[in-house]
Amino acid sequence: MKFSVLTLFPEIFETFTKTSILGRAVKNEIIKCDVLNIRDFSMSKHKRVDDYPYGGGRGMVMQVEPLVLCLESINNFESSKVIYLSPKGKLLNQEMVKTFSKEENIILVCGHYEGIDQRFIDNFVDEEISIGDYVLTGGEIPAMVFMDSVSRMIEGVLSDEECFIDESHYSGLLEYPHYTRPSEYRGYKVPDVLLSGNHKEIEKWRKEKSLEITKERRCDLISDFKK
Ligand code: SAM
Repeated sequence: MKFSVLTLFPEIFETFTKTSILGRAVKNEIIKCDVLNIRDFSMSKHKRVDDYPYGGGRGMVMQVEPLVLCLESINNFESSKVIYLSPKGKLLNQEMVKTFSKEENIILVCGHYEGIDQRFIDNFVDEEISIGDYVLTGGEIPAMVFMDSVSRMIEGVLSDEECFIDESHYSGLLEYPHYTRPSEYRGYKVPDVLLSGNHKEIEKWRKEKSLEITKERRCDLISDFKK
């Protein structure tokens, strides 16, 4: 899988693509991340990438030309999935993450200011994706959320111990609680069943807890889970 990121702030991705599970996947060449600076594609003397909105109003809008030239600089852009991270997009969930993980090439467009010229969205973007019902300063954090969540679903990215099968949302439920050593801290004890060595009972306890937590916190997931 190759991610190409179009951004005005490429430096934000420097540590991210070298760290933790994603960093390891990049090192092992399971994932490739190319970060392109949209400003490098500005044709203006002062490398301008934004301008005032037609019709007036607050803020600046990212111009269509640097975005198009940046996109077209990517070898296989025509056969890639082009995603614009946007608060107006479809809300990202685990099901969508799983589907995106099957793509070969994904191009992520990060907006800034008031957003990007609609003509770019209408003519070059396949999907608009939001990471939540709130507004962030730019698309860089959403792009990182997207890359991280999608990468985890790609074969070979997670080790056996890190496997996503039991994790929240993957099975349709929220995950059971975790405990580690010591078995008692300031009188706070780990549930006896987890120390029992009885794997059948542990499995049963985890399933019950998973259901209990999901019912308590996200009953919307329970109704989907039963379908
Ligand atoms: N004026 C826009 C609106 O009201 O819909 C918000 C622009 S926001 C300040 C700047 C950029 O941040 C957007 O172009 C988008 O790329 C990104 N962004 C902000 N919130 C987001 C979210 N919840 N999900 C995905 N991207 C987001």
